This record gives sequence, structure tokens and C-alpha cells, in this order.
Amino acid sequence: MIPTEVVLSPQSYAQVVSELAETLGYEGISHLQLAHHLALTVSIQQENTDLVVLKELSPNPCPICHRRLTFLRETMDRFESDGSQQIRCSMGHRYPGELKVYYLDIFQNTVGGELEKPVKVCPECQGENIQYLAANVMFCLDCDWDSGMEPRYQIQSVRE
Ligand SMILES: [Zn+2]
Ligand SMILES: [Zn+2]
Repeated sequence: MIPTEVVLSPQSYAQVVSELAETLGYEGISHLQLAHHLALTVSIQQENTDLVVLKELSPNPCPICHRRLTFLRETMDRFESDGSQQIRCSMGHRYPGELKVYYLDIFQNTVGGELEKPVKVCPECQGENIQYLAANVMFCLDCDWDSGMEPRYQIQSVRE
């Protein structure tokens, strides 16, 4: 399961932007800079806000070669765009599967707090691209490791 998008209320968006500007010492932060900083798509909505959208391809690993899927973001993009409901593993196997989408609300408790960053190296792949969303909520940009983010509820199960 990997985070793919952040959905914020206009108020939270303004707050996140101003905190980030302060942290980075910039005058202002554009939408694009925020998205780049979080490594996630950022959208602003009035309802159902302050959420992180997580997506998961299932089944994973591949039932044919039993390898875990790699390049998850690309694999998901391809799954979503080609519409065949087939997952393609890195060995080229294609098998029927689904993309599950979850919401996780996350920004509630971060207001005003400076983030401690206890994890700097990914325990899974030893990569150093750990992205923090809150003090104890983080994920790896290089593999599908995360800090045990529990989705509250499933919002959408794309076509049965
Ligand atoms: Zn395979
Ligand atoms: Zn990793």
C-alpha cells in the first residue's frame, strides 16, 4: 500500500503551505512546490478533507512468479490507464487484479508541531528517501515500506 495523494481543506492547505515556507525560508510556496515536497499529488476540497489517499494493488506478490511487485507507482498508473483489470508484474506476467483505494486521515495532530524524524533510513530497502506526513507517519519513496499506516476505511474498490 502506498500513499499517492493528499486531500486538504483550504484552511489546512494554507497552514501546511505557510509552515513549509517558514521551514524552507521562502516567501511563499506554490501548489507545485508543495506537491514536489510531499512527493504526492495535492488537492484541495471542502469536504472529506485532510486525508491521504493510499492505493494497493491486489493480489501482490504475483501469483505466477511469487515476486513482489516493483515500481508500484508506475504499475498502478498503467493499471488505471489501460482498463483491462490486469496487473503486470516486473517479469511481464499479467494477471487479473484490482486497485484498492483507502483514505487515511492524518493531519489532525500535526498542527503547529515540529516534526521529529526518528527514521532516516528505510528498514526495507536501506534507501534514504523517507517522507514524513506527521511525527510518526512516514513512508519510503523507493519501495512500499511505510510506518504501518492503517487505512480507516475503504472508499472505493475500483470495479469488482
Ligand atoms: Zn510474475
Ligand atoms: Zn524503502
